[in-house]
Order: sequence, then structure tokens, then C-alpha cells
Amino acid sequence: MIIRFLGTHNKASVDKRLVSFVIDDVLVVDAGNIVSDLSFTEQRRIRAILLSHGHYDHIRDIPAFAFNNTDRATRVFATPYTLEILSSHLIDGLIYPKFTEKFGYIDRQILEFCPLELFTVQNVEGYEVTAAPVNHPLEAVGFEITSPEGKRVFYTGDTGPGFSSAWQHVHPDHLIAEMTFPNRLGEEALASGHLCPEMLKQELLEFRKIRGYLPSTYLVHLSPEFEQEIIEEAAAVSRELNITIRAIGEGEKLSI
Ligand SMILES: [Zn+2]
Ligand SMILES: [Zn+2]
Repeated sequence: MIIRFLGTHNKASVDKRLVSFVIDDVLVVDAGNIVSDLSFTEQRRIRAILLSHGHYDHIRDIPAFAFNNTDRATRVFATPYTLEILSSHLIDGLIYPKFTEKFGYIDRQILEFCPLELFTVQNVEGYEVTAAPVNHPLEAVGFEITSPEGKRVFYTGDTGPGFSSAWQHVHPDHLIAEMTFPNRLGEEALASGHLCPEMLKQELLEFRKIRGYLPSTYLVHLSPEFEQEIIEEAAAVSRELNITIRAIGEGEKLSI
């Protein structure tokens, strides 16, 4: 499984992009940045998109992707609530066409919405996907994604602490975790449903209690203004737990 990170931050700038990654060139996870850094040829290879929740930084590029790729239907997997947010706020037929229906001169459906059920293994283009609820002000899920070769990764999406009930249902080898705040802003993390390194440590300890091992962990959704602080604090947790825990940058590829 090769994971290419197109965006690993919660804010966009000249060298920072919103959270998105592509698995094996075919499966997109979150859509903050899925057009600017993919050629049209690369976009054409995408067969399905998984969305963790309906916040703008995770769904922003869905309309642009649909408009670029009108020659076929791309499947979008998310909870019914997140799909409803897309329909009512982003591809609402007003600011952009309803790509789930025929429109204008386009005599076909461009996006096919596929509702995800919690804790149910669903086949997505040959990958097994299990969605688990996480803690965020807007309904959000994380995903365990298992490749046809049996490689397992869990992406938390946006979440605050206390999502470890997911560990009863999934057992990933690798974790892609959100990491938005440094430890000194733990209150802000709690209030907004995000993590700081100390909170991730507690979640990992709970993981070890339930599963008996620890997954190597990669951090995304970094706040650019706190990035250096987060990296240093995450390195301390990495040393303490004796596992890989590190931030991922734009354009990085992980082979697992
Ligand atoms: Zn969010
Ligand atoms: Zn976010």
C-alpha cells in the first residue's frame, strides 16, 4: 500500500495544503486538496473518495474534482449525514451543479453517493473499509482501510480524545492521526474536538491495553503556527512509547 499525502494541514497557504491522501493512486481519503496537486491524468485514475466528515477543510475540492472528471461516475463514501451536507451546502445546484444528477449538457451522474454504515466492513474498490465514530462537534468517522494484500491503516479524521472504543473493532498496523494543537492548548483541543500529543498518548495506551501492541503513527491536520511545538512534543511521546510517531508533510509518500 502506497499512501501519497496531498495535504497534511488544517490551513492552506503557498506551501501548506488541506488534508487529503491517495492510496495506491485510486482511493482518495478526504478532499481538502485533490485537484491542485494531481494532474488530470492522475485524477482520472481515482475511482472512489472516502470522506471523514462534512467540515469544509475535508470536502472543499469535491465540486472541482467532479467538474474536472465528467466522463465517468466517481463513488463518494461517507455517512448519510456527511453526504447530506455535501448535497445541501456544496453541490446544491446553486453555487455548483448537483453532480449526483444529470445537469445541463452532461447527460450522466458524475458523483455516486454511497452511504457508509458504522462498524460494517464495506468493499471499496477492492479495499475493506470499516468506519468508526470519533469525537468531533460535527458527526465524524475514522476509517480502517485494509488493502487487498492485507495491510491495515486507520485514519482518525478530525477527533478529540475518547475515540478508543474504535479499537474494539479495528486493529491497524499503522495509524494516521490528526494532531491539531500543542499540549499547552489542551483546553482548546478539548473544546473543538481535536488532539494534542498528550491526548494521543492516552489513546495509544488504551490501544495497547486492548490490542497488546502499538501501531506506528503518522500525524496530519497540523496547525502551521504550532507545527514545530507539536513535532517536538510528538517526538517525546515517540521516545516514551518506543514507536514511530512523526508528522507527515505535503507530497510525502508512505509505503506500508
Ligand atoms: Zn472537522
Ligand atoms: Zn479539519
